[in-house]
Amino acid sequence: LRDFYDVIVIGAGAAGMMCAAVAGQRGRSVLLVDHAEKLAEKIRISGGGRCNFTNRKITPDNFLCRNPHFVRSALARYTPQDFIDLVERHGISYHERDHGQLFCDESAQDIIQMLRTECDYGGVEWMMPAEVRAIAAVRTEHGRYRVDSSRGSIDCTSLVIATGGLSIPKIGATPFGYRIAEQFGLPIVAPRPALVPLTLPPETLAELQPLSGASLDVAASCNGARFREAMLITHRGLSGPVILQISSYWQAQAYEKRDLAPVSIDLLPGLDALEWLQQKRGERALLANLLAERLPRRFAHAWCTLHGWDKPVRQMSPTELEAVATALSDWRIAPSGTQGYAKAEVTLGGVDTDALSSKTMEARNCPGLFFIGEVMDVTGHLGGFNFQWAWASGHAAGQFV
Ligand code: FAD
Repeated sequence: LRDFYDVIVIGAGAAGMMCAAVAGQRGRSVLLVDHAEKLAEKIRISGGGRCNFTNRKITPDNFLCRNPHFVRSALARYTPQDFIDLVERHGISYHERDHGQLFCDESAQDIIQMLRTECDYGGVEWMMPAEVRAIAAVRTEHGRYRVDSSRGSIDCTSLVIATGGLSIPKIGATPFGYRIAEQFGLPIVAPRPALVPLTLPPETLAELQPLSGASLDVAASCNGARFREAMLITHRGLSGPVILQISSYWQAQAYEKRDLAPVSIDLLPGLDALEWLQQKRGERALLANLLAERLPRRFAHAWCTLHGWDKPVRQMSPTELEAVATALSDWRIAPSGTQGYAKAEVTLGGVDTDALSSKTMEARNCPGLFFIGEVMDVTGHLGGFNFQWAWASGHAAGQFV
């Protein structure tokens, strides 16, 4: 190891390795630092071990950020196709699943190896595992930042913070990035677990117990967002992809300082429930049996019992049918919280993008200090968007460090 590098990147995850490779291949001397024993554990466990590495159908609307325009520039300059080209150059086979999600055929390990090879092409050096004890701004002949680590002090011109968010602390997530932001006076949007199962107050949980185990194709809405996918009712609360997606928006209300509105569930997405019930109003069948035409039978019965609707359809008044239609299309459930960082895929909030350049990811008031990836206040939907942000922001910074 030398005592000076052009660039030090702290955090050898998705964004950090991309940035280091790009900078190294531009001819910059780069040191990549990480405290973990094993490289890129989060990539390894991603996408059920197959890494959903990008999404073909990306738009800025797939991201939550206090400044929704911030992501545009980097996403436009490094697209899903750019990453696909890289994957193909490395001979990694992949496949597409629903909603444009791309996964490795074999293993997420292929993506880790690919990034490692790209770092090798750029002559990137590694310091891992190593603890970073402190960062200081300095003014030496070339250096602007000094990294004080368990392996000594090293100076650099550009310092890139790529230490990710707080999810899954047991594989090495730390608030390091937020601390550095605070040290240099950058504002933080309060972090919260996102893409996370939701918990319910004890009374709701008790009420929903008979529905536990159900898996349903629903649409969930909250705070202006709507998703259609599977919902699971579990003994702890609500889960499944649609709930993970909506959890980010439920949580976002808190940082927008709004009262937490409930999540609205449409049990019959794509169907006008009132019109359908009115067509069926002469039926002799119990309401539960009618609903069982479109919902799992056990769920339909338990759901009707929950609401106290135990009559045949034709004995129900128009007002009752309207109430049923509303409950089917706008079943409101107020979560009490989330299952926290131990179960969250990502962190909402982070380094406020107002303090960063959307072109380079450099801190406006601290020349040479960059933040990339999940440590920033940019959170993607489920489906490969978080990795695409890591690649795009890492690539953007890699061209300027
Ligand atoms: P990370 O990849 O988390 O890398 C941060 C690095 O910083 C780590 O190597 C860590 O060891 C290091 N670090 C942290 N603190 C310190 C410190 N103090 N000192 C030194 N080093 C430090 N996204 C998708 O797009 N598709 C998926 O399929 C997907 N699946 C996921 C599955 C799970 C279970 C989880 C938890 C997340 C998943 N994500 C997925 C989200 C995705 O993994 C992250 O958004 C992405 O890894 C963020 O990249 P990053 O480089 O910013 O941070």
